[in-house]
Amino acid sequence: MDEAGKVLKQYFGYDAFREGQKELVESLLAGQDTFGIMPTGAGKSICFQVPALMMRGITLVVSPLISLMKDQVEGLNQAGVHAAYLNSSLTPGQYRKALGYAKEGRYKIIYVAPERLVTEGFLDFALQADISMLAVDEAHCVSQWGQDFRPSYLKIVEFIQKLPSRPVLGAFTATATKEVRDDIMDILLLQNPKVVTTGFDRPNLYYAVQSPRDKYASMKNFLELHAGQSGIIYCLTRKYVEEVYERLRGDGFSATKYHAGLSDEERKENQEEFIYSRAEIMVATNAFGMGIDKSDVRFVVHYNMPKNMESYYQEAGRAGRDGEAAECILLYAGQDVVTNQFFIDNNKDNQELDEVSRRLVAERDRERLRKMTFYCFTNECLRDYTLRYFGEYGSNYCGNCCNCLSQFENVDVSEIAMGLIGCVESCRQRFGVNMIVDTVHGANTAKIRNYRMDGNPYYAKLAQVPAFRLRQVMNHLQLYGYLNVTSDEYAVVKLTEKSALVLKGEERIIMKLAKEQEHPAKIKGGREEKGKGARRGAAAGFSREEFTQREERLFEKLRALRTEIAREEKVPPYIVFSDKTLVHMCVVKPTTKEDMLTVSGVGEFKYEKYGERFLQCVQEG
Ligand code: ADP
Ligand code: ZN
Repeated sequence: MDEAGKVLKQYFGYDAFREGQKELVESLLAGQDTFGIMPTGAGKSICFQVPALMMRGITLVVSPLISLMKDQVEGLNQAGVHAAYLNSSLTPGQYRKALGYAKEGRYKIIYVAPERLVTEGFLDFALQADISMLAVDEAHCVSQWGQDFRPSYLKIVEFIQKLPSRPVLGAFTATATKEVRDDIMDILLLQNPKVVTTGFDRPNLYYAVQSPRDKYASMKNFLELHAGQSGIIYCLTRKYVEEVYERLRGDGFSATKYHAGLSDEERKENQEEFIYSRAEIMVATNAFGMGIDKSDVRFVVHYNMPKNMESYYQEAGRAGRDGEAAECILLYAGQDVVTNQFFIDNNKDNQELDEVSRRLVAERDRERLRKMTFYCFTNECLRDYTLRYFGEYGSNYCGNCCNCLSQFENVDVSEIAMGLIGCVESCRQRFGVNMIVDTVHGANTAKIRNYRMDGNPYYAKLAQVPAFRLRQVMNHLQLYGYLNVTSDEYAVVKLTEKSALVLKGEERIIMKLAKEQEHPAKIKGGREEKGKGARRGAAAGFSREEFTQREERLFEKLRALRTEIAREEKVPPYIVFSDKTLVHMCVVKPTTKEDMLTVSGVGEFKYEKYGERFLQCVQEG
């Protein structure tokens, strides 16, 4: 094993680097600026922590959020690494003390908030210190294109320029878009960086979309099947958060809540309730999550459809960071589109932009919303749809999403398609989706009468087809470019060059449609459906899904022990050992120290601290 591999094993207890990690580690060790773009949960921290332990001097890690720093530093301390953080959560006394220790060279890794970098106290330390590396975590925060722009990130360059010698720079992010990537390289002035991008697929996540009549009832059902597990429920608005939270509490669930309307203190408290697993369920708006490293989140339910795929991928991605099977369920309703549309139309974030840019931004947002909506309607593999959105190609069958797992039938919908496209043509491409659907369906509304659509040749032509099917086909036609909807506020349906092929009967439209009876049972069936995917998702070849009853009991015992130790150490349980490590322990059933050290996630320091107790627990179990 090479030196880096040894460090990985000794401190972190892992046998092998994951995809991308080795390259990033080696590049940094070779003194080259390095840029890692990896999805959440891929293991970015290891990429700078391992070289940090091998370099002569200190590594500074710039990180945007206090919670993130705290979590990582706790994790490092538990692994036997001397690390500290410097941010506004420390009292002036604590800060001075930490800085004093830093000057004495007690810490190998120091996490620092960007706004601290160019303060007098910190510079005083930094100018004398031997700084080998500067790692910028969540590097997309330097970019105004991203969702999380932080002006204080711009201080990083200013800081580097003040240093007597330039340390090697590492930048890390999970944000993939090209604009953001370019910004990071330009703004941080990375010198001829080695760029490593790993795939965005998260095979251990199961994806599903449902459109239940009663969202709350479906969700409750789901939660009952997942009792004892950590999960997040995302809602679009504070109002929804309050509502869902109250109902869950009323129904006896262990839940807490988070949104921007709560006081700082309450937010902090609730977040900790969740992170320390004292509350199982977090009900939150999208204000919650950035910098939440909790690795054992077993499900993320979206109570509403989010505004775009970027948000969805990021929020859903907070599930299963430990690599164990986890579920991402999106509950769709038409109202979600309306609410998002309203947010776009009333966006106050762009006040400083001029009128033209503002309109462009709104247009882009509408387009993103449309792609998000398509995700909810597509009958294709959801993973594939997501990967394609981010510019990657997956296979069109993943076997671990609701579409891949439900029964399909190929249905020829050409007749319906002809009716819809014909209607668009005959009304001279003047109307939106609703008008077209209402017309072919033969609705008798004032709007139809006002525009004389009841006299249109296609009026009531498809009266026998259910309206939801008409909408599905309409979506399908848009998705495949047989029709186009303008991205202005009028959302008018237009023909494309492919429309005529359908009208002339030269191209048949075949849709994969889920068999009707499958729908209502979907959320209930989550358990059974999950099996396959979970096995698939267990990268290291072991999974809780395959546990015997005895192993299941052992797992619960180990978990209880972990909780006990977490309390003693005052850290979240997953900092002691991840779920994945406990699962592996149940499989290996170690009887000696050597055995125990083969368990993924058990490093030497942790073994010394509480390895014996876990060994004993396994023996008794
Ligand atoms: P990211 O910052 O990319 O979202 P993290 O650094 O939080 O991801 O890592 C996610 C999880 O994967 C953590 O529990 C981490 O300990 C684990 N991990 C990282 N690298 C490895 C590895 N080489 N082998 C096994 N587990 C790993
Ligand atoms: Zn799939």
